[in-house]
Amino acid sequence: MPRKTTTPKPPKCPACKGTGTVAVAVRVGRRRRVVGQQDGMCLGCLGSGTT
Ligand SMILES: [Zn+2]
Repeated sequence: MPRKTTTPKPPKCPACKGTGTVAVAVRVGRRRRVVGQQDGMCLGCLGSGTT
């Protein structure tokens, strides 16, 4: 008989892999030139890292 887990893990957000932040490419201009990346709050989990 499998043991029951007493602490169920909340499912990680697939968008940010549980980190709560996602790397957002910063683009400028019409040619969408990527000037860098920055951390942005994950909109999938609103920064909590879980769904
Ligand atoms: Zn997320």
